[in-house]
Amino acid sequence: MQGVGFRPFVYRLAEAYRLGGSVRNGQRGVLIDIEGERDAIARFLDELESTAPSSAHLRRITVTWTAAHHDPEKFGIDTSTAEGEPALFPAPDLAVCAACLAEMSDPGNRRHAYPFLNCTECGPRYTMIRALPYDRERTSMASFTMCPACREEYEDFRDRRFHAEPTACPACGPRLALLDAGGRVLGVADALQGAVAALRGGQIVAVKGLGGYHLACAATDAGAVRELRRRKSRDAKPLAVMVGSLEAARRLCVVSDVEADLLQSAARPIVLLERRPARAGREVAEDVAPGLRHLGLMLPYTPLQHLLLERVDRPLVMTSGNRSDEPIAYQDDDALARLGGIADLFLAHDRPIEVRCDDSVARVIDGAPSVLRRARGYVPLAISLTHEAAEPILACGGELKNVFGLVRGREVFLSQHLGDLGDERAYRAWVHAVAHLKGLLELTPRVVAHDLHPGYRSTAYARKLDGVRHVPVQHHHAHIASCLADNGVDDRVIGVAWDGTGHGTDGHVWGGEFLLADLDGFERVGSFQEVAMPGGEAAVREPWRMAAVFLQAVYGEAMDQLDLAFMGRLDRSAWRLLSRATERGLNAPPTSSAGRLFDAVASLLGLRDRVDFEAQAAMELEALAAPDADRVYAVDLDEQDGRTIVRTPDVIRGVVEDLLAGVNADRIGSRFHATLAEVIVRTCRRLRDRSGLDRVALSGGVFQNVRLSRLAVEGLGRAGFQVYTHHQVPPNDGGLALGQAAIAARLREDRRRA
Ligand SMILES: [Zn+2]
Ligand SMILES: [Zn+2]
Repeated sequence: MQGVGFRPFVYRLAEAYRLGGSVRNGQRGVLIDIEGERDAIARFLDELESTAPSSAHLRRITVTWTAAHHDPEKFGIDTSTAEGEPALFPAPDLAVCAACLAEMSDPGNRRHAYPFLNCTECGPRYTMIRALPYDRERTSMASFTMCPACREEYEDFRDRRFHAEPTACPACGPRLALLDAGGRVLGVADALQGAVAALRGGQIVAVKGLGGYHLACAATDAGAVRELRRRKSRDAKPLAVMVGSLEAARRLCVVSDVEADLLQSAARPIVLLERRPARAGREVAEDVAPGLRHLGLMLPYTPLQHLLLERVDRPLVMTSGNRSDEPIAYQDDDALARLGGIADLFLAHDRPIEVRCDDSVARVIDGAPSVLRRARGYVPLAISLTHEAAEPILACGGELKNVFGLVRGREVFLSQHLGDLGDERAYRAWVHAVAHLKGLLELTPRVVAHDLHPGYRSTAYARKLDGVRHVPVQHHHAHIASCLADNGVDDRVIGVAWDGTGHGTDGHVWGGEFLLADLDGFERVGSFQEVAMPGGEAAVREPWRMAAVFLQAVYGEAMDQLDLAFMGRLDRSAWRLLSRATERGLNAPPTSSAGRLFDAVASLLGLRDRVDFEAQAAMELEALAAPDADRVYAVDLDEQDGRTIVRTPDVIRGVVEDLLAGVNADRIGSRFHATLAEVIVRTCRRLRDRSGLDRVALSGGVFQNVRLSRLAVEGLGRAGFQVYTHHQVPPNDGGLALGQAAIAARLREDRRRA
């Protein structure tokens, strides 16, 4: 378990059954000595398992019987952290609990309207821990001396603030301050009212949260939202919205029971929800999530956010405090320097943030929660591998949406989402985060797993490390291994790894792959037919290039005569130059990427010829598609050198014929999705005949597409396959580190056996 409020819980349970003994923190978890009647002990154990606080994340209980040696009537909590005990795992940050909220809204309570109250069940953890063991003196609360009243609660076994390390009250704890963009203090006692008035008046306020600053503005104020985008140099990426309550969320979006649970969970992720149609949805400005059917909503998780939302009384945009791709600002000086040109005001406080940590993003897919960006509230909860690593491992992850991982024994500790390492600041923050988590876990990696891509900064970092064993892992193999580890299995499977870009063993850009894979290795048994990426990376930013190169592949010279809107938009002379260079192989790397096919179709449908961020076109294509497809496009599967090749130009031909016949774009979109799902099922059937395998793992960023995922899972299920999908880590590159870790841990085990 990860020790949060667990010892007092054990204490109360032991008291209830009149058992003697003690509870203390040990190296591998909590150690409980329990002594008394056998029946009472059995009931104690039952209840220990069934009623432990969920925030304790109980993982395993091991019971050993010994001779009695305590005073059978007395139970104690041993709070000393004995030497040689690195104590417990660091715990994730937890949303403020109902009991604390009740106190905050009770005018008679000494913590009435106090924005920093917390208890053993709630409050900051990971983002305020400097080192373990987890004690106040090693947190960012160290400089706050408890008042006598707080001290009394802290030392009382029966109090829910017993050893609540960040506990505080208005007399002794952190305080709010309202600053102007230049850092001048405008108010302390009236800081909250000042921020509320500014937000209601359409201003932008930087609000200090748990893992960094948010930039906030009224989500209902179109002018404020537009201004925020402009100042932040934010492309068209959707902005997250915080609503005050579940009811408020339901006014904007359709919320199922599972989604409601996810919104209200202690991790409080941003949950992607389907917007309500028409008028009801107008409560939020269109610019919050332009062109998308979904809205990312979250509920308040700090007491301060509760106070703010209650008083502002409208949904707030709460987006990461940064400019474009830079890391989120979390230190006060840095926030003032970097956000001073964006925010009109700063609602800050004097409790330092130790670890930068973004909000998590999750979505319910087929009734099950799936984490798309794993950060605050989940990190650093460990994920268990099916086998134990002999030596500590660092898994570096990829380049985009980077997450790294550290392995100790069977546990993988994944970092929070650290963004795109192409940004210099993001890379420096990444190096810092690696050092921090290594320090926190007191772990020195002996094995370093990394991607094959020579241009990834995480790869370069790994290769520079001396005195460690390097384990290079192919990108799509890591995706499939990640899906296996996510599901806690160790099978050989048919792996369908579809994404934008990944470095192949042949140096080509892979991304529409079928593998026979397990943690020991993989065989590439199928892929999309390769096409050139005209202009290399530029083709990722400009989907029209992919549309043009596919048209050329299908129609050759005759593409000029096609009566398509796309041809009207095409700069023909620019394309002639580009296509000539492409034919000669100049800056035109071949790719089997599924992401590029999505881009091409989105461009042909007139959705987007240029993108502001990765997968933007694909997201819009998903949003556009009509609910059910009436048919699929004919696609040939060829066999070449023992590999199944999916003839993707066939898909383009189908789309073009529909366009020429005047079929609606949303209908084409749904046929396109259904076609790709059928390609998956047909190819997997072939591979089953060949390999005897009947389990399929779906991974890679393309499977964030819920429509495609659902169709593929249903189709594979009907064909008799067992299907693994992602839940704990995203299918995109944020999941790579888990896969790398699982592969590296396994490799070591085999070597030992040999
Ligand atoms: Zn609480
Ligand atoms: Zn106090």
